[in-house]
Amino acid sequence: MVDYKKIGLVNTREMFKKAVSGGYAIPAFNFNNMEQMQAIIMAAVETKSPVILQVSKGAREYANPTLLRYMAEGAVEYAKELGCPNPQIVLHLDHGDSFETCKSCIDMGFSSVMYDGSALPYEENIRISRQVVEYAHKYDVTVECELGVLAGVEDEVASEVSHYTKPEEVIDFATRTGCDSLAISIGTSHGAYKFKPEQCTVDPKTGRLLPPPLAFDVLEAIEKKLPGFPIVLHGSSSVPQDEVDTINANGGALKAAVGIPEEQLRKAAKSAVCKINIDSDSRLAMTAAIRKHLAEHPDHFDPRQYLKPARESMKKMYIHKIVNVLGSNDKL
Ligand SMILES: [Zn+2]
Repeated sequence: MVDYKKIGLVNTREMFKKAVSGGYAIPAFNFNNMEQMQAIIMAAVETKSPVILQVSKGAREYANPTLLRYMAEGAVEYAKELGCPNPQIVLHLDHGDSFETCKSCIDMGFSSVMYDGSALPYEENIRISRQVVEYAHKYDVTVECELGVLAGVEDEVASEVSHYTKPEEVIDFATRTGCDSLAISIGTSHGAYKFKPEQCTVDPKTGRLLPPPLAFDVLEAIEKKLPGFPIVLHGSSSVPQDEVDTINANGGALKAAVGIPEEQLRKAAKSAVCKINIDSDSRLAMTAAIRKHLAEHPDHFDPRQYLKPARESMKKMYIHKIVNVLGSNDKL
């Protein structure tokens, strides 16, 4: 049993309370490798932002759970070395698919876990969520649960269609599970292909596809039912067109990739939404920088040569999100 507090991590409780009352959201960035982790920590330190380092089941399989856990421990020390004496870093499991996965993360030193039972029947979702919460709270680990289904693909999490969260269910769900935060479905979507072209409209000025707007009426109804309760948005990458263009101009073939406009995320961050998950934008920034670098330097073969600009590009993107979209800068 690893005590996350001993390795300098924090849970989400205090940071969510401040975020909800302060009208901003905490960034939750996924990481799978060292460069992503470095970029996230550099961005958080430079902007004085709390940050949630997220690990998905796929990331644990890709990188090895033990190694990821020690990287997060290293992240705390790294932040201090970069000049942040009291970093606010959460190590969070993204989309835990069973009680066992959540327990294994809690035992390894995670300070927060998500149990995602959103694909299960309602009562079954409550039963397992409750089981995870009971175990996690023994160790002061916070738990995010999910109600409503997001469309899109993220590692093993995939759904063809989305089902908005039903506001009439949230009080019962939050009370009976005892969860610390609730991930809801209001039209965000996992992955870089969030919407089919037929779901979008065409921007007459740019000719680009515009996604359907988020269901702010559903968000407002949920906030009325659970005033001040921390709400989480998954699938909130914006899929920047310049990154998509860079990828496609340098040998890539991404088609009609559309994300959530940043103005809508900014609006959500000002409400009870206090955690916004961003993964695909980092993948796009990294891939665009690597493709561009290798196209310009066909003789390069040292991974440091192309991972360095990739890391820089991700860091720039994380800073932009923290300062211009989530508003979590200067909150340490
Ligand atoms: Zn997600």
